[in-house]
Amino acid sequence: MADSTVRIGLVLPDVMGTYGDGGNALILRQRLRMRGHDAEIIEITLNDAVPDSLDLYTLGGAEDYAQRLATRHLTQHPGLQRAAERGAPVLAICAAIQVLGHWYETSAGERVDGISMLDATTVPQEKRAIGEVITTPLLKGLSAPLTGFENHRGGTTLGADAQPLGRVTAGVGNGVGDSQEGAVQGSVIGTYMHGPALARNPELADLMIRRALGVDVLDPLELPDVELLRRERLAAGRR
Ligand code: GLN
Repeated sequence: MADSTVRIGLVLPDVMGTYGDGGNALILRQRLRMRGHDAEIIEITLNDAVPDSLDLYTLGGAEDYAQRLATRHLTQHPGLQRAAERGAPVLAICAAIQVLGHWYETSAGERVDGISMLDATTVPQEKRAIGEVITTPLLKGLSAPLTGFENHRGGTTLGADAQPLGRVTAGVGNGVGDSQEGAVQGSVIGTYMHGPALARNPELADLMIRRALGVDVLDPLELPDVELLRRERLAAGRR
C-alpha cells in the first residue's frame, strides 16, 4: 500500500451505524478512487483503540444504549479528539452529534457526558422528529440544498463555538425551534441527516475530501444517478 493512500476511519460501526450511515465511508472512498487516489476504509470497533493518524473520520447514528457504549469508548480512547485538533475532517451523524457534544440526556432522562468536540447539548423532545429534512447550507464551500432523512428524539442546542450546518426549509433539524440543522466546529461537521448523507449530498462529500487532501478544487464527477437520487429526495422532502 502506498503512503499516499487516503485512510478513512469508520468509527464504531458495530454500535453506531443506523440507516446505512456506514455508506458515508464508502462514498468517500469511491469518490477518491474515481479521481485516481488510493483510498481505504479502516473500521474501528469497540475492540480497538481509536487511531489519531487517519485522514478523515465518519461516525453514524445509534439507538440510546449503543450510543452510550460509543460514548464510553470514545472517552476512554481519545484518538478522534486528537485527530480533530490537528484538523482531520470528522463527519458525525445524528447520535454522533450528541456524543460529540458536552452532554446529552437519554429518553430515560439520564444525563451522559459527551466528549466536548462540539459546543452542543441535547435534551429529548416531546415529539420524535421523523422524515425528510432539507436545508440551505450555511457552511462556506457548499451551495446546493442539503437533503437527508432524520429520526431522532434529541433536540440539540448549539453554544457560541459551534455554527449550524444549514437552515431548515423542510423537516425539523436540530429540533429546538431555531430552524438550525447540524453543527460545525473546526474540522467537525455534525448533522442529523441519514441517507446516507454523503450519497445524497456529493458537495458535502467533496468538501470533506478537499479538506483531507488540502486542495481547493477537485475534478468534477459526472454521476447522473446521484443527480436523479437528489432530485427524487428533494421532491419527497418538499411534498
Ligand atoms: N438516540 C438518539 C435520538 O433519538 C439518536 C438517534 C439516531 O441516531 N437516529 O435522539
